[in-house]
Amino acid sequence: MSLPEDARPATILAQAAGAIDEATGGIVPPLQPSTTFLRDPDNRYRRGFDYGRDANPVVRQVEAVVAALEGARAALAFASGMAAMTAVFRSLPPGSHVLAPKVMYWGLRKWLRDAAACGLLVVDLVDLDDLDQVRAALRPGVTKLLWAETPANPTWVVADLSALAALAHEAGATFVVDNTVPTPLLTRPLALGADLVVHSATKYLNGHSDLLAGLVVAGAEDERWAELRRIRHDEGAILGAFEAFLLLRGLRTLEVRLQRQCGSAMHLAAALERHPRVERVLYPGLPTHRGHTLAARQMTCGFGGMLSILVRGGAEAAIATAAAVRIWKRATSLGGVESLIEHRASIEGPDSPAPPGLLRLSVGLEDPRDLLADLERALDRAG
Ligand SMILES: *Cc1c(COP(=O)(O)O)cnc(C)c1O
Repeated sequence: MSLPEDARPATILAQAAGAIDEATGGIVPPLQPSTTFLRDPDNRYRRGFDYGRDANPVVRQVEAVVAALEGARAALAFASGMAAMTAVFRSLPPGSHVLAPKVMYWGLRKWLRDAAACGLLVVDLVDLDDLDQVRAALRPGVTKLLWAETPANPTWVVADLSALAALAHEAGATFVVDNTVPTPLLTRPLALGADLVVHSATKYLNGHSDLLAGLVVAGAEDERWAELRRIRHDEGAILGAFEAFLLLRGLRTLEVRLQRQCGSAMHLAAALERHPRVERVLYPGLPTHRGHTLAARQMTCGFGGMLSILVRGGAEAAIATAAAVRIWKRATSLGGVESLIEHRASIEGPDSPAPPGLLRLSVGLEDPRDLLADLERALDRAG
């Protein structure tokens, strides 16, 4: 069963792109844990499945939902965001020159540094909000890939995806966007010129902090896509069937979760800007944010559920604030139903772009009044 071609995102999500159990009429598609599938008597595989490292019915359904949301031709689900993202870099010829942002998911920045140290890639880091800098760093005919993330962890710098796509393509590079933070409900990078979009589905797409998953989605099923398929298959990085089943369930509520999270984040950002212990609030929804105008043009339906605050008094005051909360959970990660608070510089180490007083907030589904009161109390107590 499939939905009408013009079904909107909330409809695609609520109905998992139309999946049911064809065998029984169950309105929820079943978990299919088989690692191997029967051959037909004539030795062929007509049902589309042969071995679990290649594909699984629930994994395929997750891919169909995310591909539909992104307006993509195809998607591949991986065992984590990092498995998906490193597969993209490893699909390039060894020694390729790539450009990545200075402000990005720190785990991937670390992986890139390690990949450069062992000669796998040549990596230059750039400020994505400075197009002249990006243009100067791109080496036409040599640079193989430009990576973007927007709004980017943990300062929520906004990058102009259409402009970056044009620069990358002029130089002959593939343009890849990590769309984990906005999700396809707020930004659809393929429509803005991206060649590939990647996700940590561990975050908003699943939304319940109870599984790891990643995806790569593509605008075309070309040679690059075949290579990504090969890497996932040959190296065994496919998402597990149980995780796919849970992820499909999490996806059904993405639209309502994110609406609530965008609304609460905006409310918190505006209120915290007025708190005397807060030096600055970093949130693209605030007119005071450097990337606000661009974010307002590029993002639809809201500015996301992530913000950061700079606490007066630096690292010590920020850590004391995080220590004093009672509702916010002190934990890493983002995009779940429970709100998380984290002192980023402690996590990211000395080369982090996070100022010492920065606390990153992932806004969950709690009552925003409780979240605000808890933070205000913690800020007052730590002051
Ligand atoms: C978490 C995250 C990743 C890594 O994904 P995992 O699922 O933890 O492997 C990559 N990019 C961003 C923006 C993330 O938040």
